[in-house]
Amino acid sequence: MIPSIGSAARCASILLTLLFLAVVPMRAAAAGSSTPHYQFSARFDVKRGTLTAKAIITLPAAGGETAFVLGERFTLTETSTDCGARPELAPTGTPLPHLQRIAIRSGEAVRTACRVTIAYHGPIDEAGERSPSLSADRIELGIDTMWLPVRQDLGMAFSIDADISGLPTALVVMSQGQLTRSGDRLRIHRVISDSDLMLVGAVGLKRITAPDVEFYTAIPDDPLVAKLRENAFGAAAFYRKRFGAPQVGPVRMIVVPRGSGAGYARRGLVVMPTFRDPGAPTPPFDAASPARFVAHEFRHAWGSTPDVVFANYWMSESVAEYFGLRYVEATLGIAERDAMLDRKREVAAKAGPLLGDKRPSGAALYQKGPVLLFALEAKIGRPALDRILARSDPPTTTEAFLARLAEVAGLAVAAGFRARLADAAWQPD
Ligand SMILES: [Zn+2]
Repeated sequence: MIPSIGSAARCASILLTLLFLAVVPMRAAAAGSSTPHYQFSARFDVKRGTLTAKAIITLPAAGGETAFVLGERFTLTETSTDCGARPELAPTGTPLPHLQRIAIRSGEAVRTACRVTIAYHGPIDEAGERSPSLSADRIELGIDTMWLPVRQDLGMAFSIDADISGLPTALVVMSQGQLTRSGDRLRIHRVISDSDLMLVGAVGLKRITAPDVEFYTAIPDDPLVAKLRENAFGAAAFYRKRFGAPQVGPVRMIVVPRGSGAGYARRGLVVMPTFRDPGAPTPPFDAASPARFVAHEFRHAWGSTPDVVFANYWMSESVAEYFGLRYVEATLGIAERDAMLDRKREVAAKAGPLLGDKRPSGAALYQKGPVLLFALEAKIGRPALDRILARSDPPTTTEAFLARLAEVAGLAVAAGFRARLADAAWQPD
């Protein structure tokens, strides 16, 4: 067991750890309308630790309200729209503390797209942040830092064109989409939709490629990083065989110099720490933990944008963990997989439900969920479960999963599985 790798694998997605907001009525995109688009410009001042930014967000035609959230540490210098709606500003603690809410309310009659402009400046990080998002040797900026206005439920996927300057020239900075770098400036053209803009990088990153993967690290010869790379390439081949091409490929995996905290993924992007403080030696590690961890994140990176509703949470996390164990089985053997599964079984009885009115516990999502899926697999057979999950367009909601399960294995099996998901006290035989 390696404490650092084991603990990091649990909080595998920063995005998902934040998605605890109940669904509130929001401006719904009209049928047939295009994806929201961000025109974003930003300038960092690394010395001062500040950011000056402007987002012009084009929303598809729709009525109702769209509320954005942004860190309250930023001073707004402009909020306006070109559709007659006046932005309403208020502080908010949802879904995270220390935010400001910028709500756009348009009448039912809005038939055209609405362009919302939000300009602001302020400190890159909240006061007291011990691990700055942008320093001379590392950058990790994403939705959890609330540096970019995003819809309050964190679930609005968008395309983006970004022009970002003030980046330390020695930092290699990655994101999703097409990247153009010159000096301190990075331009991003991203056609694919995602509900976040990630900037991730470090000094001295080198690229190593394999089919469907671009792997970035500054220390390719380090034994643990080499093991992460081996599993990145292995997991890509594993998923290509079962799911076809990644929705966004090649998947970029970036190893950042960080001793603690999580790895996480977006479509086409995986971020993982070096599991040590800069300059510290390689921590001890076993073979199975990096294999499961990388394969879990690659499952996220391979597929669709996760659904943000509580009731669909396990469909993202438990399914990714299930495939993490399938990958361990395929590469290290069934005994290694069973040892992992046995440890998960021990906590299943106390983990709480996967379906209910609250966010499922981490133990339910990462330990009990995969145990339930292996039990289902034992009941209906792997080929049957693969017909539901191992495909290019797997279900992302509980209801879609159960409907497919009823088709493949019958109504009684689907009803039984739904009851097990909701059963707080379920334990393996
Ligand atoms: Zn995950």
